[in-house]
Amino acid sequence: MATINENFLKLESSYLFSTIAKKVNAYKEANPDKKIIRLGIGDVTQPLAPAVIEAMHKAVDELSTESTFRGYGPEQGYDFLRKAIAENDFIKRGININIDEVFVNDGAKSDTGNIGDIFSTDNIVCLTDPVYPVYMDSNTMAGRKIIYSPCNAENNFVAALPKEHVDIIYLCYPNNPTGTVITRDQLKKWVDYALANQAIILYDAAYEAYIQEENIPHSIYEIEGAKKCAIEFHSYSKTAGFTGVRCGYTIVPKELDTLRSLWLRRQTTKFNGTSYIQQRAAEAIYSEEGKKQVKKTIQYYMENARLMRETFASMGFDVYGGVNAPYIWIKVPEVAQEGVSSSWSFFDKLLTLANVVGTPGVGFGAAGEGYFRFTAFGKREDCIEALERIKAVKDLL
Ligand SMILES: *Cc1c(COP(=O)(O)O)cnc(C)c1O
Repeated sequence: MATINENFLKLESSYLFSTIAKKVNAYKEANPDKKIIRLGIGDVTQPLAPAVIEAMHKAVDELSTESTFRGYGPEQGYDFLRKAIAENDFIKRGININIDEVFVNDGAKSDTGNIGDIFSTDNIVCLTDPVYPVYMDSNTMAGRKIIYSPCNAENNFVAALPKEHVDIIYLCYPNNPTGTVITRDQLKKWVDYALANQAIILYDAAYEAYIQEENIPHSIYEIEGAKKCAIEFHSYSKTAGFTGVRCGYTIVPKELDTLRSLWLRRQTTKFNGTSYIQQRAAEAIYSEEGKKQVKKTIQYYMENARLMRETFASMGFDVYGGVNAPYIWIKVPEVAQEGVSSSWSFFDKLLTLANVVGTPGVGFGAAGEGYFRFTAFGKREDCIEALERIKAVKDLL
């Protein structure tokens, strides 16, 4: 008899986004004339850069004739893209990354989830709380023990080092959901911990392109010793609007030679590469034109972030994030009533009074209770209208 992986039964039902959808739908049904604005979406809204579109058209045409047709590509990715990655994202920043250390993928969700294949299920995993759910669910599926390190206003949303021994640490900076960053000094403490404890850091740099301030690390490899203890994930989803196109990459350094060969083996067995068209699209992000165009879209979202941050601050909220990340994380009024979530009660008020949808912080972990997330990925006009509506009802929130 085929038996199932019972670890899947331990997964918490992903009630966050389904509860949001249910509440929004019920409200819409009861109030069909109301226009709802969503500031909770984690997806981008602006179109792809023209340089990317052009590169994709060209790649499609190449596939249409026998002489330039391509079938299966190299599992690790085409050299043209791996070279562009190593040069632009690392070597130009003074980080020595060789193309052998670059693994092109179809997005960071796949690799942050799949990387567990090469680690024993006995490893103890450390996650921040709140957290991007993929790290938690993929390790629950594998049956690993997880310990949580809470992030809150008191520690400036940078988790404290674990008190008990851990083997695998997931860090995501700039952070989703809190929009906060880690400094080089703070990150160095994690690298030193990992080196001293023979732990591995899985560093999710999906929002690296949103960093505006100097002195915030774009890559964990800016920290001395990190190549001996860290694997890093990148994605073009938020960098260049590739949420639908699908492309990203993972760095497994030579210094982690065993892990690198296991990952290569895992990929050549279970993954047949990202399409040629997507990889040409990604390469175009690194062209002069591509860089300018992508930057312009990021500035567009960051202007939304600035408007949101300043508006919420002017209304008296404690506001975090939004400076080097497209997420705003606010502290919401506390509801003293037992069993009532402050995060969800703010959600309800925002929906019914302003017809605006955001994401309750508690949906990302217990430490997110009392907080609320807005994303800057919406259209400017929606963002402005939503803020005006919220301001108009601020005394009732
Ligand atoms: C959006 C996001 C990603 C990117 O996922 P893709 O699969 O590349 O679209 C990775 N990590 C975090 C934390 C994210 O929010």
